[in-house]
Amino acid sequence: MFRVRGIQLAVHGSFFLLLAWIAYEGWQLGGWPTLFWCVGILLAFFVCVVLHELGHSFTAMAFGIGVSRILLMPIGGMAQFDDIPREPRRELLITLAGPAVNFLIAGLLWPIVGLAADDGIPITTRGFFQLLLHANLAMGCFNLLPVFPMDGGRILRAFLAWRMPYVRATYWASRVARVLAVVAIGTILFSPFFGRWQERILPSVLFVFIGIVGELEYRATLRREREDEHWRASLARLYGPAPTAEPPPVSP
Ligand SMILES: [Zn+2]
Repeated sequence: MFRVRGIQLAVHGSFFLLLAWIAYEGWQLGGWPTLFWCVGILLAFFVCVVLHELGHSFTAMAFGIGVSRILLMPIGGMAQFDDIPREPRRELLITLAGPAVNFLIAGLLWPIVGLAADDGIPITTRGFFQLLLHANLAMGCFNLLPVFPMDGGRILRAFLAWRMPYVRATYWASRVARVLAVVAIGTILFSPFFGRWQERILPSVLFVFIGIVGELEYRATLRREREDEHWRASLARLYGPAPTAEPPPVSP
């Protein structure tokens, strides 16, 4: 669509299917005014998704890491970094910056519109911003679930990487994610708190997707580590072992 500080903002084609579906649901609920209200909410929600991703991106750029693009999909946004830092402190700050943006937006809206009442959100201007406030609180909290590669999972990996090698930390983060994803899917499918079965499918598919992406990212991390090791070994064969930081022992 356009660029922000060199970051390309791209929208996946399936996003327009979601837009069409929301428009149709809104129209069925209350004709044209509700259609515009629902489409407006969806667009405002995705503006917040972009701001969340820009939070990650600008923090990464402050550390000198390039961000090529932000891709918007119906399930959310994804910032693509040139290189994810393997330094826990940096990864922690970059990761926290996303949910922090959501809590900041919620914190700004809260004193103005307040939380919605229990009996639902009215289709008014105030209701619009109340729903946006609720959506930002939900987005911030949901992303902090420790399910790798969601933000919470990355935070878990950063904490683990303080105590063990990076690949090992990624392995454990992705294993925890797999277990939690299975628990989440079981809860969504069998708990009475979730509504009709149609409403249970999308969140279940989302957790399957998160589990798969987590596994793929672990494998990519492992592959990169092995390639790096291969190059280190090859260079060592050619030029001798890499120099270490410690000075050679001095004989008395
Ligand atoms: Zn995030």
